[in-house]
Amino acid sequence: MSKKCILITAGPTREYIDPVRFISNLSSGKLGYQIAKTFSKKYKVILISGPTNLKPVKKVKTYYVETSDEMFSLVKRFFKFSDVFISCAAVCDFKPYKIFKNKLKKTSEYRTLKLKKTKDILEYCGKTKKDKQILIGFALETDKKNSLKYAQQKLLKKNLDLIILNYPDSFNSDKISPTIIFKDGIIKKYERLRKIYFAKVLFNLIEKMLECKKDEYK
Ligand code: C5P
Repeated sequence: MSKKCILITAGPTREYIDPVRFISNLSSGKLGYQIAKTFSKKYKVILISGPTNLKPVKKVKTYYVETSDEMFSLVKRFFKFSDVFISCAAVCDFKPYKIFKNKLKKTSEYRTLKLKKTKDILEYCGKTKKDKQILIGFALETDKKNSLKYAQQKLLKKNLDLIILNYPDSFNSDKISPTIIFKDGIIKKYERLRKIYFAKVLFNLIEKMLECKKDEYK
């Protein structure tokens, strides 16, 4: 049997305002790259990466993108034949309504930037996914009181198999405090795990999930 294919997105996206300015999200890409490395030991991995300072992961076919639109078109291309999609990327939720052709001038004290929603890549995958495909998302929340509720809502809205709730303390850090929420309601909480260890936790979980889905591959 051929190796299962794991599609991973990592890092931030950039949404250009003019040729030299953009809006973006804080994200080092470390977790997505670590997950790609861990999964490449057993599976075929395709990594779609936004801009990061990280070294390429050996033996992992990596596609580099900048914008959410570029990330979306590559995910569409590869999701069809992927067995698992792990959406680690910090995709911008909004992009400038128009990209100015020339660098904007400082002609006034204030400037209003009109934004429009980007395409929700993960939600698109949730709508088109086949039963045998496993879909995993992340929910970065800052409001700890409501964070669990928000993450559960995202899991349902995007039709995910599980979602990993985390907080900004994982930014640019080697550690993460993830709460894993499954679609059947089971919740597993971890404190200050090294990202390398968390990638192994995810690896073991996905192995089990693929095993459960094996009848659907026949
Ligand atoms: O709704 P929210 O942006 O919090 O959802 C986060 C999850 O959705 C992450 O897994 C992220 O990779 C994905 N996402 C996406 N496309 C967007 C926004 C988020 O795939 N435009």
